[in-house]
Amino acid sequence: KLRGGRPKAMQFGADTLTRIIAVTSGKGGVGKSTMTANLGVALAASGLRVGILDADVFGFSIPGLLGIEGVKPTQVGEMILPPVAHDVKVISIGMFVDAHTAVSWRGPMLHRTIQQFLTDVFFGDLDILLLDLPPGTGDVAITIGQLLPHAEVLVVTTPQRAAADVAERSALVARQTGQRVIGVVENMAGLVQPDGSVLELFGSGGGTDAAARLSTPDETVDVLAAIPISVALREGGDVGMPVVLAHPDDPAALAITALAARL
Ligand code: ADP
Repeated sequence: KLRGGRPKAMQFGADTLTRIIAVTSGKGGVGKSTMTANLGVALAASGLRVGILDADVFGFSIPGLLGIEGVKPTQVGEMILPPVAHDVKVISIGMFVDAHTAVSWRGPMLHRTIQQFLTDVFFGDLDILLLDLPPGTGDVAITIGQLLPHAEVLVVTTPQRAAADVAERSALVARQTGQRVIGVVENMAGLVQPDGSVLELFGSGGGTDAAARLSTPDETVDVLAAIPISVALREGGDVGMPVVLAHPDDPAALAITALAARL
């Protein structure tokens, strides 16, 4: 049960040694949660202490992607111990609501919940905390911007030009709160055919487009990775066994592992 009461000291404040990376996208369905889950697992497999905070209130999917759907955190006094999946500590809004209830919280309630995740959830010392944000420019993005202005932002988009448009807007909101955009991930970047040719199902150029538009005279934003369309990646998500562990040689898994090493 979530607590009312007095606010306590927040973990991951300005003096934190934990790197905080908010994964964002302009719209849903571009693979943001899939990227967050796989990146988290890949980073943990490289020996880092990793946490994921799933703040995608309207579409929380991290527990399912990591195979811990239905698992509840343990509560010790006022402290919440996050479940661990594939060596990643995970907390999700989905763990606090009924599976079949739509979350239709308004801004202040969302703000309090995120704030509480950052105070009451005992992550211990982490090297990296990944945040899975809802798509777009809503209340959660603003809350995270206010509470964690030192977070870095990773933008996920598809190769479609229209997707780059909305991706740009979501990143600009983050930047307004002082967060730094560290790069763009182009997901669903082509499907390798049996004959080796690549079918650009969602077009091309969206990642480069978004990166160019997000670059400023002082700060170049790069496309850090292009992740191909992959059946194994999708299946891994469906069964809660991330492709980076299940099929490390899959082209999408290789691309995500390389991305994790670049961060
Ligand atoms: P978002 O978090 O942006 O809404 P999801 O991570 O839920 O997106 O992904 C949307 C759907 O697309 C999921 O069914 C996921 O398995 C699938 N998907 C994501 N990336 C890929 C990819 N590279 N290849 C194949 N399917 C993908």
